[in-house]
Amino acid sequence: RMKLAARVGRIVPSPTLSITATAKSMAAQGIDVIDFASGEPDFDTPEPVKAAAEAAIRAGFTKYTPSSGIDELRVAIADKLKEEQGLQYDKSQILVSCGAKHSLYNLAEALLEAGDELIIPVPFWVSYQDQTLLNDATPVLLQTREEDGYTISQEALEAVITPRTKAIIVNSPCNPTGATYDRTTLEGIAAAALRHDLVIISDEIYEKVLYDGTQHISIATLSPEVAARTVVINGVSKAYAMTGWRIGYAAGPKPLLTAMANIQSQSTSNPCSISQKAAVAALRLGNPFTKTMVTEFDRRRRVMVDRLNKMPGVTCRMPTGAFYAFPNVSGLLGKRWKDQPIGSAANLATYLLNEAQVAVVPGEPFGSDIHIRLSYATAMEAIERGLTRIDAALRRLS
Ligand code: PMP
Ligand code: GLU
Repeated sequence: RMKLAARVGRIVPSPTLSITATAKSMAAQGIDVIDFASGEPDFDTPEPVKAAAEAAIRAGFTKYTPSSGIDELRVAIADKLKEEQGLQYDKSQILVSCGAKHSLYNLAEALLEAGDELIIPVPFWVSYQDQTLLNDATPVLLQTREEDGYTISQEALEAVITPRTKAIIVNSPCNPTGATYDRTTLEGIAAAALRHDLVIISDEIYEKVLYDGTQHISIATLSPEVAARTVVINGVSKAYAMTGWRIGYAAGPKPLLTAMANIQSQSTSNPCSISQKAAVAALRLGNPFTKTMVTEFDRRRRVMVDRLNKMPGVTCRMPTGAFYAFPNVSGLLGKRWKDQPIGSAANLATYLLNEAQVAVVPGEPFGSDIHIRLSYATAMEAIERGLTRIDAALRRLS
């Protein structure tokens, strides 16, 4: 038997990706499955972005590029961060990678080692924990409360900081809760990070997916001292409906970004040359495309959350960002389907997939066993039909 590295025994495949794959393969078999699992916009990539990619292919822009990304794209990213956030980075402080997930991975590898602790607020996006484990460090889960809108207080944060704490993840808008952090919350986190010398990892991938007039605040903008210890992670996947193109980026302190760039140059080399040209076009688009998309998400958000709240045993907060509903299903746990107990969110997700042909992600891989996650980045018609099915299925439980 082949003996694999111990680290691979600590992780599982991304549950969000694997449930999405299951739903897609059911659909390919002709099953009328409704997919609320995929965490990606259903909108098509904008035309000017596609045109830039086509032009890149035709021009023979199909060779290796500098490992950290082409200057044109790094400059476009620096301009974006300057214009929208007022953050100033030199090109050498910006690394373009194969999606924000890859940016986060490079960061984990450059920063973490055995004995280090990374604080992850719960509920969290699935990959933070496994990327930490893959790099031999210890995830420290910081529980937050639904009743408090999943905010973090400085006291609660300081209570889990130890001499081994190296960094904290900040993900606003948050996947899966849809929560956004206000300035006071961010100031508390920043104060704790300054006091205990922590790196702040700020995953801002849903930055432009906001509702009800909510404003995005990057924690790095609080002060130059905070910026000096923050790595901003972002990308084009969500804002420009470009999940398949795989372009994300990191911006932050030079020594750390240099280490990440070195890792990338020895592992993947440059992200796809064609996608980099496409990403330049996306960043130059301005906001109209994203605004149209978010206006539509907003309409779907209201329909989904209102209908979830009318279902027996379900309560759902109104998210202020991202494109996920994260209903609390604790009122259903303990019920039964025939002779099978619905004892967990995972059981409920399996029941909904098998008995209602609706794919949702159970809360467990996000750190909650009383929630499920539904994406509303899907057609209104599918939302209506899928929620009707869920409602009927929940009423069949005894
Ligand atoms: N962070 C969060 C919170 C996400 O939901 C995603 C989407 N999977 C990512 C990072 C990574 O996005 P991508 O790799 O597509 O840029
Ligand atoms: N961010 C998406 C999600 O949470 C995409 C899948 C993934 O990369 O995990 O569903």
